[in-house]
Amino acid sequence: MNNSKKIYLDYAASTPVGEEVFKVMKPYFSEEFGNPGSLHKFGQEAMKVLDESREKASGLLGLDFENIIFTGSATEANNLVLRGIAKKINNNPEINFENPKIIVSEIEHECVLETAHDLESDGFDVAEIDVNPDGRVKLNQLEKELTEDTVIISIMYANNEIGTIQPISKISEIVQEFKKEKTNTQYPLIHSDAVQAFQFLECQPKELGLDLMTLSAHKIYGPKGVGLLANITEESLSPIITGGGQEFGLRSGTENVPLIKGLSKALEIAKEKRAEERKRMKKLSRELISGLKQIKSDIKLNGVSSQERFSSDKLKTIPNICNFYFPNNSAEELLMQLDLEGVAVSTGSACSARSAEASHVLEGLGHNPQRVNSSLRLSLGKYTTQQEIKKTISVFEKIME
Ligand code: PLP
Repeated sequence: MNNSKKIYLDYAASTPVGEEVFKVMKPYFSEEFGNPGSLHKFGQEAMKVLDESREKASGLLGLDFENIIFTGSATEANNLVLRGIAKKINNNPEINFENPKIIVSEIEHECVLETAHDLESDGFDVAEIDVNPDGRVKLNQLEKELTEDTVIISIMYANNEIGTIQPISKISEIVQEFKKEKTNTQYPLIHSDAVQAFQFLECQPKELGLDLMTLSAHKIYGPKGVGLLANITEESLSPIITGGGQEFGLRSGTENVPLIKGLSKALEIAKEKRAEERKRMKKLSRELISGLKQIKSDIKLNGVSSQERFSSDKLKTIPNICNFYFPNNSAEELLMQLDLEGVAVSTGSACSARSAEASHVLEGLGHNPQRVNSSLRLSLGKYTTQQEIKKTISVFEKIME
């Protein structure tokens, strides 16, 4: 099938590289290919591009040049946060925690959840905070779980399966207050995975009260295989990849100059187009939701309800992600039928290597296995048109007859 005729509604899994992004990256693959660590002119040129990219990315996040660590993915950045903090604590005799504890939400991306639980074998306790039926974390439970042994709290800004936005500023406030009263040290640190949020929400870590924040390029029309960690608090991490000491000693390995250049351009464009895209996505998702509900009135949204979603200008969910429950339908069968009709959607999160496991996010909302297995995520993006939404609704109409 011709790809241009297909309808891609899986932008939360990955986005195509934008034209402008591709253009700025291209020369650094084969023409200006130097290693930023080399002393000759080729190396100096590469270092200049790397510095400019870092300057741009840090500026867009309201940070200083040295607050950005480029990584090979958001997965790696999230691993660096949790494992880097754990390593720092375990290797430093001056830092003493009896039962060091990591707090996460139960609907984090697998790269946070799996990593946190993996650290249990290194002596870390893990507390998972529950979410309400709309996907927002239970703040009273967070308050209860905060102890003087807590070393890091990692709560994502917007969820990749249901789109729910977490009250990050409020969470930081709770943590900062606790810190002031109880620990008077840099711990607990606070981190947020803002991979899905950046396109639609202002992501200035200092304004949000974060110590650490993760981003990924391929969710914002940049290339796959590059991410960044905004690291604001000095001396909070130990490297988990050691070698030549690149990235301020925190992530060794020759920097991928073209991808980093692409990431910084993608960040710039996403920020520039944020307000416009937010509005456009809101309109298109409203059409999609009402169109599908007209096919069968028992089709429901998972996470934030449609009334709440559109009741005020304040976003409760990022506007491109719609996760639907189709009663009496198997999500997998629907997905296959849609694919045959040229519409690409996903069940749960596609980021976890084709896992057939039930979505931990939908389970976290309290849904039974039958609802979890009858739910699909449709995520819209920059190239989604009104025409495509109409076509998608009519395809659903056809296959659900
Ligand atoms: N965090 C969230 C919220 C995501 O949606 C994804 C997507 O896969 C990731 C982390 C992982 O990103 P990456 O593919 O850059 O490792």
